[in-house]
Amino acid sequence: MEPGNLRPSLLIDGEWGGASDGGTREVIDPATGRVVVVVDEATPDDARRAVATARRTFDEGAWASTPVSDRTALLSKIADLLQRDKEQLARIETLDTGKTLAESRIDIDDVTSVFRYYAELAAVHVDRLVDVGRPEIISRVVYEPIGVCVMIAPWNYPLLQISWKIAPALAAGCTMVLKPSEVTPLSTIAFAKLAEEAGVPPGVLSLVQGSGAVLGEALTANPEVDFISFTGGLATGRTILAAAAANVTKVAVELGGKNPHIVFADAVADPTDFDNSVDHVLTGVFLHSGQVCSAGTRLIVEESIADRFVEAIAERARGIKMGSGLDDSSETGPLVSHAQRTKIEGFVALGIEEGAELVVGGTRPEDPRLADGSFFLPTIFDKCDRSMKIVQEETFGPILTVERFRTEEEALRLGNDTNYGLAAGVRTSDSARGERLVRGLRHGTVWLNDFGIYTAGAEWGGFKRSGNGRELGPSGLSEYQEAKHIWYNT
Ligand code: NAD
Repeated sequence: MEPGNLRPSLLIDGEWGGASDGGTREVIDPATGRVVVVVDEATPDDARRAVATARRTFDEGAWASTPVSDRTALLSKIADLLQRDKEQLARIETLDTGKTLAESRIDIDDVTSVFRYYAELAAVHVDRLVDVGRPEIISRVVYEPIGVCVMIAPWNYPLLQISWKIAPALAAGCTMVLKPSEVTPLSTIAFAKLAEEAGVPPGVLSLVQGSGAVLGEALTANPEVDFISFTGGLATGRTILAAAAANVTKVAVELGGKNPHIVFADAVADPTDFDNSVDHVLTGVFLHSGQVCSAGTRLIVEESIADRFVEAIAERARGIKMGSGLDDSSETGPLVSHAQRTKIEGFVALGIEEGAELVVGGTRPEDPRLADGSFFLPTIFDKCDRSMKIVQEETFGPILTVERFRTEEEALRLGNDTNYGLAAGVRTSDSARGERLVRGLRHGTVWLNDFGIYTAGAEWGGFKRSGNGRELGPSGLSEYQEAKHIWYNT
């Protein structure tokens, strides 16, 4: 599967085609600024047609009543095909997002494990009987597919994020319309072809491409839709929630984060622990150039070790090797686009204006070989505090801010002092303190002496303004189901 084979790019009513108005968009390799391929972009009418297809296919009932064993076999087949095509898919993801091939390969493995997980879970997910205390009554709860789902994804993990939606939706028996980010359309097209090959019936999965501004209303204010699963920014999430309100459509939003990584002095007492901690903080924030919803962008470090610790991270940040993600020797790739870099440059200017101390980075790299790509150096601001916007707002780029604390209470207060609540990390060798912190932090995922890891079987989602839904784990399947209570009077 080469990028050149990704046209036509829209899949509606079981047919691959272009847009009804012939619209297209250029896809840019962020490492070089060059056009990789051109894809078709849908019109709002195309999007409505895709939703109507999903509605009709769902209402016909054949898919929803397919035996669970057939659906789980399909999920397993998709997982096998993902592994068969892993290298091509990883290459497409790297060309589109800029992330390194090593990161893209991990993404494809993670996508595979999500399909395998839901294949297993769907097979054991059972009805529930409720004892109502009357022998003649059977009270039974069954879980039925929620219906027509619209899935809207961001550009940072294009295939991974949408797979967290597709796999449970297929397992539950839903039909769906996918809309990847217009910035990174490629891997979802490749995936839809692969799903077709695996045997997903026509009409169950449709794919439209285009910007949210153009297609949003057709997809989210549409009375034929039963559930919208959205991953993206807070502002877009609010717009979608408002659009869906008129039809009382259920919406799950997975939004941004401003994630604290709290480091106590006792965590770095010996040199190995010190190096490990530096490593975790560094990769926790600079992986994929910081374009990760759970990036540990706020280092909250105990005062007594702060100078030494920040300098060690800065030293490592200076040495990160930047380059095209397709070059195996690159440790980090570019930002996803020039527009994203402009946004990050704005945050750096803001940090300086707000009085934070720029320790490292803050500019584009000088290497002339990187001049055409959207590269930006890993950046650290020290001496930050909560009054600063760079500490409060999600930058979604390679910017680490440093705040210092003296007591455990202060560390916890700082860790919770954010409108977001997606993820947090704590590093301490004191297990009682660790337990107090992991329970006290109001975030959907909390890592103790680790960072950035997740697993398909455990829920992912945000507290507060990081979202209102859960993906992965059993709850990730429940989102795609309606619980129906059946009361039998025997
Ligand atoms: P975005 O909100 O700009 O776009 C996300 C998607 O929404 C895109 O497909 C876009 O086309 C679409 N969209 C935009 N306007 C729309 C509208 N009015 N109606 C319907 N759809 C619309 O976000 P982004 O810049 O692509 O992604 C970055 C954001 O995603 C960050 O805030 C990041 O934290 C978040 N994110 C969250 C998670 C999570 O698990 N919570 C995971 C990954 C990314």
